[in-house]
Amino acid sequence: MTAARAHGGASTLTIAGLRAAVGGKEILHGVDLQLRSGEVHAVMGPNGAGKSTLSHVLMGHPGYEVLGGSVTLDGVELLGLATFERAQAGLFLAPQDPVEVPGVPISDVLRAALVAAGRDGEAMPDTLARKMSDEAGEIGLAPAFLVRALNVDASGGEKKRIETLQLAILAPRFAVLDELDSGLDVDALRAVARRVARATAPGASGEPGLGVLAITHYRRLLEELRPDIVHVLVKGKIVASGGPDLADELERTGYAGYTDPEVAVSAIGPDPFGGLFS
Ligand code: ADP
Ligand code: MG
Repeated sequence: MTAARAHGGASTLTIAGLRAAVGGKEILHGVDLQLRSGEVHAVMGPNGAGKSTLSHVLMGHPGYEVLGGSVTLDGVELLGLATFERAQAGLFLAPQDPVEVPGVPISDVLRAALVAAGRDGEAMPDTLARKMSDEAGEIGLAPAFLVRALNVDASGGEKKRIETLQLAILAPRFAVLDELDSGLDVDALRAVARRVARATAPGASGEPGLGVLAITHYRRLLEELRPDIVHVLVKGKIVASGGPDLADELERTGYAGYTDPEVAVSAIGPDPFGGLFS
């Protein structure tokens, strides 16, 4: 059991001034965001804005170079920790493109993660098999995937359900979902979104609910997984944040008004021309 889990209180994930590069090019130019247990924050933005980069940097992907800033979970700095240590601290990533792991069934992956977290009881083969079967049923994942190698021969949508199953069983403190909706049909999307939404509620013994950072292009996911806050990420910076209405507005208008961080900031800030043209 991790220290964070043991105290049982609500947690906070704080991203401050996060700058990162990939392939020698700075992609994130100072991202600030604070997420608490039970909250759902959506991150929306055009292709290439740096959304997936943010998700990889949070989880500690070795291909991304952190240039500055911090990411703390209940005050503990995560940058510099190995990916498995971030997972043990309570962070989970459902990547945009889940990797296939030939030869390793999903039950082995989950069992290893549960044992590493000191949750041996849940890792018992019968207990885990029952839980996996229940969760698979709820999100419409065919039982065959529970015995197959992780993500091998799975369609895009099936991989997203497999990610959701892992999330449901590992019950992390915070989950970053990178386009969890991509490849899912309407019914699957609803089932998956509802499962994640259920995880955001406090547990039966009062454990705080899951905090979610949902990266998505579409409002559809957010109809079931209602966000508390919607952030717009453009060119590696959050240029606007607002309530759920912002997602509706983006669906109508696109990101045209937000293509340049300088323009977007002035558009929502004080009139830069002091009323000269009004
Ligand atoms: P998003 O998820 O918002 O569509 P990404 O974070 O995937 O955006 O990409 C942001 C930018 O970083 C893009 O310009 C992309 O081409 C670039 N990029 C991503 N991964 C790499 C990489 N491995 N090497 C070089 N550039 C990359
Ligand atoms: Mg992406």
